[in-house]
Amino acid sequence: DDDAALLDLEYEDELERKQTPAPPVLAIIGRPNVGKSTLVNRIIRSRQAVVEDVPGVTRDRVSYLGEWNGKDFTLVDTGGWEADAKGMQKRVAEQAEIAVDEADAVVLVLDGLVGATAVDEAVVKMLRRKKKPVLLAANKVDSAAQMTEVYPLWNLGLGEPYPVSALHGSGTGDLLDAALQAMPETAQYGGLTPTGGPRRVALVGRPNVGKSSLLNKLAGSDRVVVDEVAGTTRDPVDELITLGEEQWRFVDTAGIRRRTHMASGSEYYAMLRTQRALDKAEVAVVLLAVDEPLSEQDVRLVQMAVDSGRAVVLAYNKWDLMDGERRYYLEREIERDLGHASWAPRVNVSARTGWHKDKLAPALRTSLANWEQRIPTGRLNAFLGELVAAHPHPVRSGKQPRILFATQPSTRPPKFVLFTTAFLEPGYRRFITRRLRETFDFTGTPIEVQMRVRE
Ligand code: GDP
Ligand code: GDP
Repeated sequence: DDDAALLDLEYEDELERKQTPAPPVLAIIGRPNVGKSTLVNRIIRSRQAVVEDVPGVTRDRVSYLGEWNGKDFTLVDTGGWEADAKGMQKRVAEQAEIAVDEADAVVLVLDGLVGATAVDEAVVKMLRRKKKPVLLAANKVDSAAQMTEVYPLWNLGLGEPYPVSALHGSGTGDLLDAALQAMPETAQYGGLTPTGGPRRVALVGRPNVGKSSLLNKLAGSDRVVVDEVAGTTRDPVDELITLGEEQWRFVDTAGIRRRTHMASGSEYYAMLRTQRALDKAEVAVVLLAVDEPLSEQDVRLVQMAVDSGRAVVLAYNKWDLMDGERRYYLEREIERDLGHASWAPRVNVSARTGWHKDKLAPALRTSLANWEQRIPTGRLNAFLGELVAAHPHPVRSGKQPRILFATQPSTRPPKFVLFTTAFLEPGYRRFITRRLRETFDFTGTPIEVQMRVRE
């Protein structure tokens, strides 16, 4: 029917967005009436393409594609932020805060002629907590004679105030220059789409599971070594490897190849190395070997990958050594010890024979796609509405916590925020998380469900 067709279209839009690199995100925030919308319109001029419209009763957050000096960025227009907002205003303020969480830099717009109000100071305090680059735009400075009005704004401790007139366009160029300088090339906090370049893969696993054998098998003869930082003595050397007609960037492979972990033998350094690789990667392949029982170190490494918030694939190596009895025990070990990663796709391989090495790329793609999955707000709330109607939160001392609204502020990995009237019990939260996984496909990605209690 129509509704289903609409959802499909929405879904296809989402997928399409996933294909292109994500430009960095700039959030515009400030009190109502300081001129945020006017500034946004000035910046995007005719480029009115709305890339994301978070539905809500009021204007919550709207994103636009902006361009300045040949660089693309996503501009997020937020509703007005007020310190002690109530009701609908409060939701708008929360949305603004979420926009800040997702942004790579923030423009705080003030009325340059009014100066900083108590509300502005509260915003500054909130922004300081977020530790994002902040640019101060003193708007409504329509003439050169008014420039001196902005000097007191230095006192906010946010650096140089940029006098602008959103109405006339003066000063916005300098502001954008500074904003783009403050931002990375691509979105770092769950922009709408993935970063550019080959996908970054961390191949991790305890010594002797077959990491370097697998790399050799996958890379074949076309090994392309990428030296990130020329002249460094440490070894952040990556390799470009083609799998399934796509190039992948395996990070920190120098460590695997040099086998220094064998020489130093310290599990502690191996863990540090692993953490560094995970930090650089988008997806982790945790390699396990099936010829021996899963060890504590194996379990710990899987946990590290899960905790890193990366997409995850579990690969079971040395399958050429597998027999019936071992298989029986392996399945029990997996059930008992790796339940916390039961959502990760599993690939059985043999680095020695090359068996199933072509299964790796599809698993990587699945995990990454789900890691970047965004559930449209409307769909998310429809799902929750039905779920809560069928399975309400248990009543405790005469009270029943209610879920007012949910949103997915970010991806990579998917993060959900539930606005509730009171804390939800851990069991009920787990129930919601499980149902989210069952309803939407999150194979291969951790997901996070947060709550915000609103009085
Ligand atoms: P928002 O609520 O922060 O989005 O503010 P708006 O963009 O809706 O602007 C609020 C009012 O300020 C409108 O009447 C604008 O025309 C006016 N305004 C915005 N920018 C300027 C400016 O640079 N100079 C002057 N004089 N007025 C401005
Ligand atoms: P790493 O320490 O994780 O890099 O492991 P290596 O690649 O050095 O492999 C450790 C040992 O396991 C070597 O003797 C390899 O030949 C052997 N090995 C690796 N992969 C396989 C496999 O798929 N099957 C079998 N039978 N042996 C393997």
